[in-house]
Amino acid sequence: MYRDAWIKVDLDAFKYNIKTIIKKTNKNLIAIVKANAYGCGIQEIYKAAEEAGACMFAVSSLEEAIALRNCGCKKDILILSYVSHEYIDIIKKNDLTLTTVSLDWIKTFSKYDASNIKVQIKLDTGMNRIGLKSEEELKEAIKILDNSKMIIEGIFTHFACSDEKENPMTNKQFKLFENTVKNCNRNFKWIHTSNSDGAFILNENFTNAVRVGISLLGINTYDKTLKNVLSLFCRITNVKKILKGETVSYGATYKALENEIIATLPIGYADGWIRKNQGRMVLVEDEYAEIVGRICMDQMMIKLKSKKNIGTLVELFGKNISIEKIANDLDTIPYEIITILSDRLTRVYFKDNRYLTNFNPRLNESEN
Ligand SMILES: *Cc1c(COP(=O)(O)O)cnc(C)c1O
Repeated sequence: MYRDAWIKVDLDAFKYNIKTIIKKTNKNLIAIVKANAYGCGIQEIYKAAEEAGACMFAVSSLEEAIALRNCGCKKDILILSYVSHEYIDIIKKNDLTLTTVSLDWIKTFSKYDASNIKVQIKLDTGMNRIGLKSEEELKEAIKILDNSKMIIEGIFTHFACSDEKENPMTNKQFKLFENTVKNCNRNFKWIHTSNSDGAFILNENFTNAVRVGISLLGINTYDKTLKNVLSLFCRITNVKKILKGETVSYGATYKALENEIIATLPIGYADGWIRKNQGRMVLVEDEYAEIVGRICMDQMMIKLKSKKNIGTLVELFGKNISIEKIANDLDTIPYEIITILSDRLTRVYFKDNRYLTNFNPRLNESEN
């Protein structure tokens, strides 16, 4: 690692969260590791998830599934979004599990040799994204899948409003799912409905697994006992005094009201640290400091209350500044804050309370 800006990934906290969720929900845990494990980096995360007891993995695309297989993952990998029939050979070669997007999608696959491909049936109970829309469609789907010798591994649906506890939509979707599945008179190895938030509000015995992504990182609307996994750090690269009236950065949007101490940090919007963060606070040792002036592509400036040395550690988020707070300040959700952090930032892994390894996909293995 050659640059003083990085993401720390706490694998101990990650494993604690998996074990805690399995215990509290009393269900199998499907680890959702799409978008490079929500930006954590798939290689170390999948191993930690396996060690902590995840039964299966889910990703969003064929690319992500192949990448996970290439890491050495031996467990089932469910692809949650559309995959084209053109890739039947590579799906078989990597032993991947597909999601049924629609009846049309199933009919298309059945025209080719899709035998032995594993699928999980997706029921659309109100999200209106992908999935079968009715009991009739489900019955027809099962017939076609059986005829073409595809292997039905499970059935699931996805909630639209599980982050709103009082919203009746979750229960409505659940009931519709339960009735539809019961009426098709078939046993499924895997039955699941809940994402992170759903897992903590539904109390039912019909499903046997939960699909958890963001809560593996310690972020959940209802359960506040989970531990934070991700922290964003950098170190001061420059410190200077400026005089009253001087301005900082592009557009000269910040003007010093008195003589001030300005420090430069080596992180910017090309790292996913977006320009809208201007005016927010970071933590320099034990002192909060405001981000002043426009955030540049690779650097930004902060206003210090007291002089600090080059190399002083700065927390952008982590133990003291939560990802939820940033999301709230920026009028978005934690998912977006962490998944836009670019792969220019090295991921630094800690395990058993010690430095384990680091990874930057832009470098060769020997250069990391
Ligand atoms: C992303 C995703 C999840 C995980 O959601 P979290 O809120 O991160 O737990 C679960 N199921 C499906 C279908 C998803 O697309």
